[in-house]
Amino acid sequence: MKMAGFYDESISNGLGWRAVLFVSGCPHHCPGCHNQVAQDYNYGQEFNKQEIIDRICENSILKGITISGGEPLCEQNIAEVVDFINDVKKVRPNFNVWCYTGYTLEQLEERHDEITDKALNSIDVLVDGRFVESQKNPTLKFRGSENQRILDVHKCLREQKIVQLAI
Ligand code: SF4
Repeated sequence: MKMAGFYDESISNGLGWRAVLFVSGCPHHCPGCHNQVAQDYNYGQEFNKQEIIDRICENSILKGITISGGEPLCEQNIAEVVDFINDVKKVRPNFNVWCYTGYTLEQLEERHDEITDKALNSIDVLVDGRFVESQKNPTLKFRGSENQRILDVHKCLREQKIVQLAI
């Protein structure tokens, strides 16, 4: 997997101080995409998991990690993303994990495959859905268009209904 970028700390990619990993490659090609270069699977640098984990460990201010892109949950990236989240949790068990995806939660659940189930079980908050230019709203927090939702994944799975974070 290639990495389009990494922020050691940010407060604009989820609640609280977070590290942010941008993976490369996205199959959605949304018109008006905020990070068009990251649609290319070969963009950026080789993802060095240990180096990123070391950088996270050096920063005591962090409360969580956000995985963005690109598309973290596409077929090409999902296994490495799950492996990364698992390893981050080994060194930071209390970390809160946000993930941005162009898929909806319903589409992910319809996959019925093991790696997607593992991903959903390891993510606390999913910002789901493609960016839709006609629904763009710059006043929204942590999302670009009205159709996108900020989901409490564990509650959604447990209660089998859509539970959005009140942000
Ligand atoms: S899902 Fe995100 S990264 Fe992918 S094309 Fe849409 S806006 Fe761009």
